[in-house]
Amino acid sequence: MAHQWRGVIREYADRLPVTEATKVITLGEGGTPLVHAQKLSELTGSEVYLKVEGMNPTGSFKDRGMTMAMTAAVEAGAKAVVCASTGNTSASAAAYATAAGLKCAVLVPEGKISMGKLSQAIAHGATLLQVDGNFDNCLDIARKLGESYPVFLVNSVNPARIQGQKTGAFEVVDSLGDAPDIHVLPVGNAGNISAYWKGYKEYAAPFETSNGTLPAVSTKTPTMWGFQAAGAAPFVAGHPITEPDTIATAIRIGNPASWDTAVAARDESGGLIEAVTDDEILDAHRWLSSKEGVFVEPGSAAGVAGLIKKHAAGQVPSGKTIVITVTGHGLKDPQWALRTEDGSDVQPVKVPNDVVTVAAELGLEEN
Ligand SMILES: *Cc1c(COP(=O)(O)O)cnc(C)c1O
Repeated sequence: MAHQWRGVIREYADRLPVTEATKVITLGEGGTPLVHAQKLSELTGSEVYLKVEGMNPTGSFKDRGMTMAMTAAVEAGAKAVVCASTGNTSASAAAYATAAGLKCAVLVPEGKISMGKLSQAIAHGATLLQVDGNFDNCLDIARKLGESYPVFLVNSVNPARIQGQKTGAFEVVDSLGDAPDIHVLPVGNAGNISAYWKGYKEYAAPFETSNGTLPAVSTKTPTMWGFQAAGAAPFVAGHPITEPDTIATAIRIGNPASWDTAVAARDESGGLIEAVTDDEILDAHRWLSSKEGVFVEPGSAAGVAGLIKKHAAGQVPSGKTIVITVTGHGLKDPQWALRTEDGSDVQPVKVPNDVVTVAAELGLEEN
C-alpha cells in the first residue's frame, strides 16, 4: 500500500515538543511538493526549486504551525482559540479548530481581505470580527484576549506555531539530500523566516531528544533571503511602519511580531531582508503562473520577485541550489490573474456551438 503522509507532527514527532500521549490535531498538512522551477533556473543559472505551500489543506503554510498550535490548545484544555489574521491564519485556525472541536474567533483588519480566505473562515464556522484598524491592531487585541480572557492565542507569537512551521525546512533538506545554498521567502509578521532558520539549524547539528541524540541531517545551513512589500517593509526601514500598504495583503504588516528572530535569521545566515514593489510582485505572480505552471497568491510571489530583482542587479550566483517558499495558493485571491494590463477584467471569447468556428477561432486548419 502506498505510504500515506501523516501530517507534520507524526512525520517529525521526534523533533517536536509532543509525546506519545499527545492527542494530535491534524488535517494531513505538510509533505508539499518541491517543484523544479525550469524558467527561473534558466534565468539564473542556478537550480531553483519552489516549495509549493499552497498544497496544504487550507492552501497556505499556516497549517504547519496550526496543527501544533491546536494540538497545544487541546493539551492545555482550551475551549476556544483566537487569532488576528490578514486571512490565511484565520482560514487555517478555523479549519483546525473545527477538527479539534474548539470554538474559534478571528480578528481581521479593515478593508482588503481576500474573498477566498474569508469564505474559508466562514465555512468552518469561525466567529469573524472585522476590526476598525490594521493587522497590527488586531494582533494587539488578540494578544490581550489571550492574556486576560479564557481563549488560547494561535498566532505565530505562540511558539508552537514556529515549531510546526520549522518542518518546512526539514522537508526541503529531506527532498534535496542537503540544505540549499540560498532559501528565499516573503516576510510579513516574520514567523516563517524565523521558523525555517530554526529548522535548518536543527537539521545541521546533532539534536537532543528524550530518547537520545539524533545525528545531523544536513552538512550546512542556507543563506536566508527575505522579501517584504515596499509599502510594508519595516525590516528595510529598520523600524515599525504605522500605515503599511501593499496589494499583497498576506504581508501587509508594519510591526512584525517575530522581529528579533527574523533579524537573527538574516544576520546569522549572512542573508538579507529587502523590499520589492507591488508591480514587481505582480510580475513575479504572472511569471510563476505563465512560465512555471504554479499559481500563487500575490504575497506568495514576493520571494520570486526578490530573486528576479537580485538577478537583474547581478547579485544571484550561478551553479547554486536555491529554494523559494511560495506560501499560499492562487485560488485564495484569483482576481489578480483575471486583470488585464489596462485594468479591465479578462472575458472569455464567446463562440457558437459549432466545431468549424471553434477551430477557426483557435487558428487550427483541418488535416
Ligand atoms: C502569513 C503569510 C505570509 C507571511 O508569513 P510571516 O510568517 O507572517 O512572515 C506570506 N504569505 C502568505 C500567503 C501568508 O499566508
